[in-house]
Amino acid sequence: MVHSRVSARIAAIKPSATLAVDAKAKALKAQGRPVIGFGAGQPDFPTPEHVVEAAAAATRERVNHGYTAAAGLPELREAIAAKTLRDSGLTLDPSQIVVTNGGKQAVYSAFATLLDPGDEVLLPAPYWTTYPESITLAGGVPVQVTADESTGYLVTVEQLEAARTSRTKVLLFNSPSNPTGAVYPRSAIEEIGRWALEHGIWVVTDEIYEHLVYDGAESHSLPVVVPELADTTLVLNGVAKTYSMTGWRVGWIAGPADVIKAAASYQSHLCGNVSNVAQRAAVAAVGGPLTVVHEMRAAFDRRRQLIISMLAKIPGVETPVPQGAFYVYPSVKALLGKEIRGERSADTVELAELILREAEVAVVPGEAFGTPGYFRLSYALSDEEIVEGITRLGELLS
Ligand code: PLP
Repeated sequence: MVHSRVSARIAAIKPSATLAVDAKAKALKAQGRPVIGFGAGQPDFPTPEHVVEAAAAATRERVNHGYTAAAGLPELREAIAAKTLRDSGLTLDPSQIVVTNGGKQAVYSAFATLLDPGDEVLLPAPYWTTYPESITLAGGVPVQVTADESTGYLVTVEQLEAARTSRTKVLLFNSPSNPTGAVYPRSAIEEIGRWALEHGIWVVTDEIYEHLVYDGAESHSLPVVVPELADTTLVLNGVAKTYSMTGWRVGWIAGPADVIKAAASYQSHLCGNVSNVAQRAAVAAVGGPLTVVHEMRAAFDRRRQLIISMLAKIPGVETPVPQGAFYVYPSVKALLGKEIRGERSADTVELAELILREAEVAVVPGEAFGTPGYFRLSYALSDEEIVEGITRLGELLS
């Protein structure tokens, strides 16, 4: 028998639509071109000094040089339990937490732990590009439920109910959202939570942007709003976005103790423990004050208002005002098929390529998030870069 070189499972992973634009942007930058990149999904601030200091000290402690418990350092699991109670009001025992190699691994491990082959996961779209791949890799079937700008990208219970089948096991929930910046109000969360409870549907809720909310919007944790759901909910979180620690790779899953025990067994074979130095840094981050987080949030809010006010002046670009995270998700459907510098783009991948070539501005096409016709722009860059990049975009498109 001839074996294929790459397994069918891995070969089925779709190359990210972000990569084409990103690779071209990097190539142009390497040639010295002044490309402005709105693609980055990470804060542009350094990690807070007290966190870096804690990590530096941890490198010198012998105890951090060897393997530690797969589920995470006891000090970190305790600090995460305390932080969760402080920030969302959810009460957790440290045994209900498994520390993962970033929020991304939390997503993979959550689905690997919950799904059997053929289990369906309701996936509100626009979605973060990693969700469908991790669901599929775990043997599950992502079932896309799409919301557009007319509802501020919020899916309704009616839409979820229409997509529910006897195979539906999990609802993926992400508020504040990547890529739209949408924040579900408490009433909508309660309605969705009650519906999930009524139908015995598990919830995987990704709260990684919980602290990045604006205009008085509030993040609400699903199992706090509907406490009866706590036994069938996994809460995902991490230090990446809140503390500007994307490179440190620390996230976690919190949920019922039996499922967390299973996820920890999986982790013990998958990767052993997360880097002890990074875990010590995370103890300092989640155990520390939120003042630095609030400073970052104020800077993001200023940039959010700047980018929204500038985008509003560009014809054909419709931008609902996002209340969370650090992304805007304008509809650019009106620009498809329109002649721009002698070219007509059939889809947003082509339009993003044209913009990169002609304006030297990189944006991520909506195809990456399950919804062609849109762009995601991160505003985690300096005010000057935002002004320059959106000015160039406006000059090209007007
Ligand atoms: N969840 C969402 C919605 C994200 O946008 C990201 C990162 O982009 C993550 C989870 C994972 O973050 P990390 O793996 O860096 O902790």
